[in-house]
Amino acid sequence: MYLIANCPSCAKVMMANDANMTRTCPHCGTRVSLFSLRVLARARTTSEALEIIQRLKEKQGDDDGAPRFRKFRV
Ligand SMILES: [Zn+2]
Repeated sequence: MYLIANCPSCAKVMMANDANMTRTCPHCGTRVSLFSLRVLARARTTSEALEIIQRLKEKQGDDDGAPRFRKFRV
């Protein structure tokens, strides 16, 4: 199961596999505990998670517009 959440440090949307206890934010490099994340959504697959992230970004507006989530490695 994948969690989609806002990074508590830089507030960008990030994805995390909940099999792990922590996740390093790909945007700011902060190591965050999955338990401290405010979970926005859950997904069963990576592509589902990326779709949700894309939708969230469209809703929130992205300052740099770069599709950085494509660099995610889970
Ligand atoms: Zn961050």
